[in-house]
Order: sequence, then C-alpha cells, then structure tokens
Amino acid sequence: MPQELLIQVTPETAANESLLKDHVGKLLKVANSEIQHITILKRSIDARQKAIKINLKLTVYMQGDVFQEQQIQLPDYPNVANEQEVIVVGAGPAGLFAALQLIELGLKPIVVERGKDVRGRRRDLKAINRDHLVNKDSNYCFGEGGAGTYSDGKLYTRSKKRGDVTRILELLVAYGATPDILVDAHPHIGTNKLPQIIQDIRDKIIECGGQVLFETRVTDILVKQNEIQGIVTQTGQTITANKLILATGHSARDIYELLGRKKIFIEAKPFALGVRAEHPQSLIDSIQYSCDYRGELLPPAPYSIVKQVGGRGMYSFCMCPGGVIAPCATSPGEVVTNGWSPSKRDQVTANSGIVIELKLEDFKPYAKFGALAGLEFQKSIEQKAWHLAGESQKVPAQKMIDFTKSKVSSEIPKTSYVPGTTSVELGQVFPGFLTQILREGFTEFGKSMKGYLTNDAILHAPESRTSSPVRIPRDAITYEHLQIKGLYPCGEGAGYAGGIISAAIDGEKCALMIGAILNKK
Ligand code: FAD
Repeated sequence: MPQELLIQVTPETAANESLLKDHVGKLLKVANSEIQHITILKRSIDARQKAIKINLKLTVYMQGDVFQEQQIQLPDYPNVANEQEVIVVGAGPAGLFAALQLIELGLKPIVVERGKDVRGRRRDLKAINRDHLVNKDSNYCFGEGGAGTYSDGKLYTRSKKRGDVTRILELLVAYGATPDILVDAHPHIGTNKLPQIIQDIRDKIIECGGQVLFETRVTDILVKQNEIQGIVTQTGQTITANKLILATGHSARDIYELLGRKKIFIEAKPFALGVRAEHPQSLIDSIQYSCDYRGELLPPAPYSIVKQVGGRGMYSFCMCPGGVIAPCATSPGEVVTNGWSPSKRDQVTANSGIVIELKLEDFKPYAKFGALAGLEFQKSIEQKAWHLAGESQKVPAQKMIDFTKSKVSSEIPKTSYVPGTTSVELGQVFPGFLTQILREGFTEFGKSMKGYLTNDAILHAPESRTSSPVRIPRDAITYEHLQIKGLYPCGEGAGYAGGIISAAIDGEKCALMIGAILNKK
C-alpha cells in the first residue's frame, strides 16, 4: 500500500530526487531500491529557524504498489454554437472561467471585452511605460485576461473551500500552467507564462462555439420591466440575451456610473489604500531567511505583515518578490501602482502594496456622490498624485525613513517603476489620518522585521486599486442582482472576489447559478 508521509528536510534534499529517496528510505527503514516512486503532494518553506527547512507531504510507492502518473485532463466540453446564449462582460478570470463553465453546462457564452487580446495589449503597456500614454480600454487592468494577466500570478486565496480552489488550479494546469501550482503552499505563475494560458482558454471557448469579442466596450445595459434584455456596445451594436454575467473588474468606473445613472442598485464598499514599497530583494531575503545570501535553492523571499495602527489594519498586499512596480492607471490624469513578477521572480527588487483599511465614514467628504463616494475618494487621491508628480505617469515617491520623518527625500534612486518617480512628501498625497497611520505603521513594521524600515526602501504612491470601492448587490442564494432579473454581478468588480482564484471561482458559481435556473447540469 502507498504510504503518506509528512517530513521536514533541508532545501538540498527537497530539490534532489536521489537525496529525497535516501532520506525516505532511512525513515521507512527500507533500501532505496524498494522505493518505486515518490509523489510530492504539498510543499512549503519553514523559515522560522535559522536553518531553513522544507515541509513536504508525500506519497511513497514501494515496488509492487500500483502507481500511475496523474494526468490532468480538460473537461469534455460540448459544442455550444447553437445553444442558448449568455452574455459575459469582461474577459478577466471571472469572465473567462464563467464562459468555460457555461460551455460545460451546454450554454453559449458571448464574451464581450473592452480591451485588446492578450498580445495586442502589450503595445499599450509599452506606451504607458515609455510614452506616459494611457489607453482607457487597454492597459494593465483592461484587456484579455483582465487585471491579473500582467501580474505576479499569485494563486493563493483566503477561500476556505479547498475543493473550489483545487478545481481552478487543475484547470489552469490543464491549460498549460506548471503542475507545481498544485503542490506549492504559495503558488504563482508569473507574467511571462500567463498570456499563453489565457490565449489557450480563449481558443477553447471559440473552438466550442462560444464567441469572444475584443475592443468591444459595453456602454449600456438594456433592461425592460426589471429584466435584462441585452447590451449596447460603443459602436451602437446591440447584443440581446436575457442572462448577463457582469464581470467588469474593480476599475470599470464607467460601468458603476452607468448603473448609477440607470438607478440600478449599487452601494459604496470599503476598500484599502496606501503606497507600494520597494526594497532590494536581497534585504528581504536576509530578513526572512536570516542569512546574508539566499543561495540557489530557496526562492526569493516573500513577506506578509499586518499591524493594528490607530484602530485600523495596515497590511502588506499583493507582495511581489523579485518583481517590478507597474503603472496601472486606467484613465489619463491619474496615477496608480501595483506590481508584477516573472515566473522566476528574478528581478533585484521586491515590492508590496502597504495599505490601510478604509471605512465608509472616510468617504463623507464625497457623500454627494452616494454609492460612488468611495470611488470619488479613490479618484481624488490618484489625480492628486498625478498632479504632484508632474502630470505624467511618473509617481510621487519618498524614501521610507524620510517619509516617517516628513522629510522630502533629496533624491530618489532609480526604481523598477519604468515611467519614473518625482520626489514628493507623500503626506501631500493622502488625507492627514492616512498619512499619520502610514508613518506610525512603517515604524511598527520596522520593529517586527528588523531592517525593513530603511531609506533603501522607496515608497511609491498611491496603491489604490486593492478591491472594488462599489458593490453590485446580489441575492446570496441565486447570485442574481437584487433588483434586475437575469443580471449576475460577478467577480471583483461586483465586490464578491479579491484576486485571480476567487474571481475565477465566482465566475464559475455565477455560470452554475444560470445553469441551475435553466435546468442545465
Ligand atoms: P478583472 O480581471 O478586472 O477583469 C475585468 C475585465 O472586464 C477587464 O478585462 C476589463 O477590460 C473588462 N471590462 C471592464 N469594463 C468593461 C466594459 N464596459 N465593457 C467590456 N469589458 C469591460 N491577483 C492575484 O490573485 N494574484 C496576483 O498576483 C495579482 N497581481 C496583480 C497585479 C496587477 C498589476 C493587477 C492590476 C492586479 C493583480 N491582481 C492579482 C488582482 C487580480 O488581477 C484581480 O483580482 C482579478 O483579475 C479580478 O478578476 P475579475 O475577472 O473579477 O476582474
């Protein structure tokens, strides 16, 4: 019988099949030749001690045990070209996984995406980075694959439903992701690998008879007697259907404004906002691994930190080891930061959003905007940062210790943020209470992570698109909008997901709800 084992080994042993076999052989008191195969089920790093260990969960197959390499297969998708149509707005993880699930259920998705396909998007990313030009339909947030395409591709989530998470990870493997994501405690894909996976998902949708329309922005939603009739695009084209999955992400401000104008129920939602901090990766490695040099066997170290400061949570968000800070504005006249990493995470800097949880009462100065009050608060900070940094895609920046002392940095060294930085006292970007919390918080972080509080770290402002500032409320059981029949608010933009995996799970759930109502299984 195959045996399951939980063991702790050195990084050398974990990385070397023959050393691992020796180790397991000794543990089980058997000769190596008796071990047929070892499958790694789970892998995580334990960096609590100076001597770093790797935790492994294994299945050990002895000679004579039945061992079969696990092949992850794509589901058996039917052809849906002539089946009932469902409109899916947005080709982010929520929209794409909704479309795949609709096909599995025998329904035809029509995916409508304002941005370009994943390759065409690249030209627009270059234009933001090099020429400071923001295309409001094709950028780091908009386009095929959604906001997560040019990202670190972290695939962890706080979702408690492991079955749902495993299904999405397995689908990603079936579409070309490395099987390591099924094993690692903190899996990630990397910005260089994600585009091909996304393209393969799109090809499958089309092969099965679904439709994917790029450069097609939804400008109106057709509703009659509180029931969905279809959509209108920027060219005036009408697409009709009585089921609509709205998965437009947290940056589709025009969609929130449209819903507001049409008196379709939306509400303000708290989110988090702050800065993006960049440290030398070697410094983060030395803090996290308690060593001068990480070596070849350990990955660039991540970190995760949270403190209560001034009655609010201040925490690291979307940390990218060996990564780059990206310009994530979606309109001219604003600056926004976020981060990405290649699959090897081999850049020399580590960046992370460091954000503070906001409360609905923080949006009071914008109360006249009703449900859009948080959105206007967010916009005002992004626009102020744009103005302070010189009205281009440069961002305001400050050295970390200088920030805690309210001192303008005399110069900002080159950072990974390609459009460049302008030295600004970041207290000018944020309302006073946020500046105060950030100042205290960085001092607190420095106490927990010795070396973190340093002028070798550069703060870039703002990190403002952490989650949606608006919720599009839906029924907890049917997932249908509370007021509009046939409308399924979905993913991060509706306020029901945060991150690639949870958005993909939510996309599948919305599709399943539609399937249930249409008696499709
Ligand atoms: P989105 O991915 O935002 O997709 C929405 C789509 O709708 C977009 O493609 C948009 O173009 C389209 N759309 C919007 N309006 C319209 C319209 N009017 N008509 C037609 N189409 C429209 N999450 C992680 O889990 N791990 C990470 O490592 C990670 N890194 C990130 C790095 C960056 C740079 C960014 C920006 C985000 C990152 N995220 C990460 C967050 C993650 O990308 C999002 O949580 C996730 O993509 C949300 O999925 P979604 O499908 O709900 O929305």
